[in-house]
Amino acid sequence: MLLINPTMRKILFTFSLAAMANWGYSQTIIHRNPEIAQMVSEISSDSLEAHVRRLASFNTRHTLSTDSQNGMPAAQDWVLSKFQTYATDANGRMTAEIERFTIPGDGRRIEQDSPGANVVATLKGTDPNDTRIFIISAHMDSRNKNVMDAENPAPGANDDGSGTAAVIELARVMASHSFPATIKFVAFTGEEQGLKGATYMSDKAQEEGWNIAAVLNNDIVGNSESSGTLIKDNLKMRVFSETIPASESEREAAIRRYSGSDNDSKSRQLARYIKEVGERYVDQFEVKLIYRPDRFLRGGDQTSFARNGFTAVRMSEMNEHFIHQHENVRVEDGIQYGDLPEFMDFEYLRKVAAVNLASLATLASSADQPQQVQIDVRGLSNHSILLWEAPKVGKVKGYYVLMRETSSPVWEKKFYTTETNLTIPYSKDNYFFAVQSVSENGSESLAVFPSPLTR
Ligand SMILES: [Zn+2]
Repeated sequence: MLLINPTMRKILFTFSLAAMANWGYSQTIIHRNPEIAQMVSEISSDSLEAHVRRLASFNTRHTLSTDSQNGMPAAQDWVLSKFQTYATDANGRMTAEIERFTIPGDGRRIEQDSPGANVVATLKGTDPNDTRIFIISAHMDSRNKNVMDAENPAPGANDDGSGTAAVIELARVMASHSFPATIKFVAFTGEEQGLKGATYMSDKAQEEGWNIAAVLNNDIVGNSESSGTLIKDNLKMRVFSETIPASESEREAAIRRYSGSDNDSKSRQLARYIKEVGERYVDQFEVKLIYRPDRFLRGGDQTSFARNGFTAVRMSEMNEHFIHQHENVRVEDGIQYGDLPEFMDFEYLRKVAAVNLASLATLASSADQPQQVQIDVRGLSNHSILLWEAPKVGKVKGYYVLMRETSSPVWEKKFYTTETNLTIPYSKDNYFFAVQSVSENGSESLAVFPSPLTR
C-alpha cells in the first residue's frame, strides 16, 4: 500500500493541474495583415450609431410601406445615397443600385403581388479571371407587433438596423481598397414577410450561375443584454451554420455518412473561418459556433442562400432582449417596449462589424480554394494521405492541411506545405482533415473537407 502524506498529496494535485493545463491549451499565433488591421481599426462605433439612428428615424421600414417621405422607399433612397457617396472613393470599381422586383403574393404575409427592392453596392474584384462573389447582408425592413402593419411606427433599430448599419459601415471602410474577388454589400427587403428579398437574389444567382463563395448575413447584432436572465456581456457573438446542408443530395448524404462529416458542411467551414479570423483581429471578443441554421421560432436571410446550395451563415448577438424586438413602441407598467436605438450597445456593434470586416477582407483577398481535395482511403495504414489540385484563380504560395480530433469543434493543427499533397503519420481513422490555400499575402481560403478516394 502506498501512503501519501498531505504535503505529497498537495504536490501531486498541483502537478496534475499543471499537466491538464498544458494538455488543454496550445499557443495561438496572432499574425495580422497590416492592411486588414488598418481597415478593422477604421470601423467606428460613432459612425455605426449615426447609421442606426438615421435608419430608426424613418417612421417605418415595413416592406409594404409606400410612404416616399418617411417610409421604406425613403429609407432605401438614403442607403443608396450612402453607397453612392462611398463609391466615389473606389475609382469606378464600386456601383450602387436599387434592385427592383415583384414579390409574388402568397396569401400570407404578402397578400398580393407587391413591389420589392434590395439596395446593393458592388465592389468589383480586380482580377478579371476571379468570378467569386462574397456577400455581406442584412435586412432593411422592420416590423412592429402586427407583421402586416405598414403604417405605424416600426423603428427597427436593432432588428435589423444594426445589421444594415454594419453593411453600410463595411462599404464605407472597404470602398477605397481593392480585392481580387468581388464583394456585394446588400440591404434586403421582405425578410419579415418571409425572406422575400434574399430569396429573389439567391434564385437569380442560381439561375444566372453566380459564383457566390460565401454569404455573411447579419441580423440583430447590436445589443448586449438579455431579457429575463439579465445578462450583460459584450464579449461574445454567435455564428449560426447549418449542420446537414438543406440542399444535400442522396449521393452527398451517402458520402457524409461514410466519412462521418456531419460537422463539416460548407457553411460550418465558413463559421469556423469567421471564428478564427475574427478572433485574430478583434480583441476581447469570442465568436461562438452555434450548430443550427437559426434560432427557434425565427429565421433569417441566410436560409434562402443555403437552400440553393450556397455557403451562408447568420451572425447574431449573444444575448437577445425580446422586449425590444417586434414590439409596438409604448410604455406599459413603466416599461419601455420597442426596438429603439437607446437600448443598443454601439461598442458591441463595432466588434461584430469588425469580425465581419476581418473575415470578408481575408476571404476576398485570398486565392480560390484548392480543387479536387481527396483523402486516400484505399489501404489499411496508420498514415493519412491528402491530395489536391491548385485553385484555378489566385496566386498561391502554399497550403495548410488542417487537422482536428473527430470530437473537436475547431481545427487544432495546421501543416504548411508548398506541394499539392501531404502524407502525415496520423491515422486517417482518428482525425478529420481539410485543406486551404494560402495566397502570397497570407490570406487563407475557406477550408475544403476531402472526399474519400476509394479506387
Ligand atoms: Zn431580423
